Amino acid sequence: MRLISHGAAETVTGSCHLLEITSHFKLLVDCGMFQGLNEELNYQPFGFDPAQIKLLLVTHAHLDHVGRIPLLVKQGFDGRIITTRATWELMEIVLLDSAKLMEEDYRTQLRKAQRRGEADLVPNPLYTQRDVRHLFETVSVQFADYNKPVRLTEFLTATFRNASHILGSATISLHVGNGPDAKTLVFSGDLGNRNDPVLPPPDHVHEADALFIESTYGDRNHRPIKDSIEEFRDTITRTLKRGGNVIIPSFAIERTQEVLCILRDLERQHRLPPCAIFVDSPMATRATRVYDRYPDLLSRHCTEHMRNGVAFDLPNLMFTEDVSASRAINAIERGAIIIAGSGMCNGGRILHHLKHRLWNRDNSVIFVGYQAQGTLGRKLVEGAQWVRIYNEDIRVKAEIVSINGFSAHADQRELLDWMKHFHRLEQIFLIHGEIDKMHIFRAAILKALGKRAHIVKRGESIWLGEVDISGHPKHGHKR
Ligand SMILES: [Zn+2]
Ligand SMILES: [Zn+2]
Repeated sequence: MRLISHGAAETVTGSCHLLEITSHFKLLVDCGMFQGLNEELNYQPFGFDPAQIKLLLVTHAHLDHVGRIPLLVKQGFDGRIITTRATWELMEIVLLDSAKLMEEDYRTQLRKAQRRGEADLVPNPLYTQRDVRHLFETVSVQFADYNKPVRLTEFLTATFRNASHILGSATISLHVGNGPDAKTLVFSGDLGNRNDPVLPPPDHVHEADALFIESTYGDRNHRPIKDSIEEFRDTITRTLKRGGNVIIPSFAIERTQEVLCILRDLERQHRLPPCAIFVDSPMATRATRVYDRYPDLLSRHCTEHMRNGVAFDLPNLMFTEDVSASRAINAIERGAIIIAGSGMCNGGRILHHLKHRLWNRDNSVIFVGYQAQGTLGRKLVEGAQWVRIYNEDIRVKAEIVSINGFSAHADQRELLDWMKHFHRLEQIFLIHGEIDKMHIFRAAILKALGKRAHIVKRGESIWLGEVDISGHPKHGHKR
């Protein structure tokens, strides 16, 4: 049995891990999109034949874990997908949005290229909204509940556990083989922050012959969330008091619901000045409804004030669906909190709000997530005086605040603590991280656990031992 990572190896995005149990039985854990610097890899071949993949296990619905699944199906995958129901629902939202953006981008590029007479050089979108709909209509899916082993074949069982990263996210344990040489492989998935206001803390796993663990923040510890919430509240209060409006660029899934949960708590504690709150993102609105449908997966803190099936219940909260409702927000002079996407301001309705509000020193923009290099969000966080939005130069006078304590990922301390709960942990493999951070994380693991970890390279073949998949447990071995 061997494992080959075709993505999220020495990098964060493109999660795609191929497990070859035999030369005839292959499965994938995640099939995500490369984002940022490695984007061109999305257009390269997978490195394996999608038609030979029997099973695809999905840890969670982020694009860097599911973004190439429609492509996999287009190229012949006709196996079964195993994931949680919540992930399946969020996946549809994420993939439709991704397809829509790629189609729009394709049309823009094509128009430009046509003017240069180079239309045939523009690559087709990886997949379209129609491909995504086709996927959800045709692919066979098997749902997993947390902590209930799912028997996938005679020789293979998977257990999904809460990873506390986004709704439905999972750590997956795979029990492979029958008999004494059976192996347990654990894929951490993306592990969440223990103090997430919306989700309960991650479940622990106790046994692994091989652990494949994410390393996104393996090099650092986050600020305590309490401090971040206070900073968040102070910024909102002072902005509203001076007659301004607050703009919060936010990711549609998890971060928006976290922000709503925090606003709801402040409101209940009478610590939020009178204001109107808008979620101006169709994707965030759809995602929030999915959260409402899975109260059992939310933290007790999050559901204790749930009313009429609505988890994020605020009297002054409005979800704006259509463009005219979104535009109407521009007429509001003061006292609004506007949550909109995209989280890094590289597209979406947030651009309109920034264009209308950035020039006014009474307003604030609060960044609650990571801002990648090259994005408008990053420019604002770094103190740009002028920015260009929709071909117009805008003076930046609004207060720009960046709050770093909200994170959907465990930090070094939490990752190590999660690993310490293993009673048996044989081999450790690091995936899903930037290489310099992985070196720091590896040193921290050696220090804290006295174990060596291996940094997985893309395409590297990792031998995980021989397993018996005959389907007939040998006599006399202990189960
Ligand atoms: Zn993720
Ligand atoms: Zn990820």
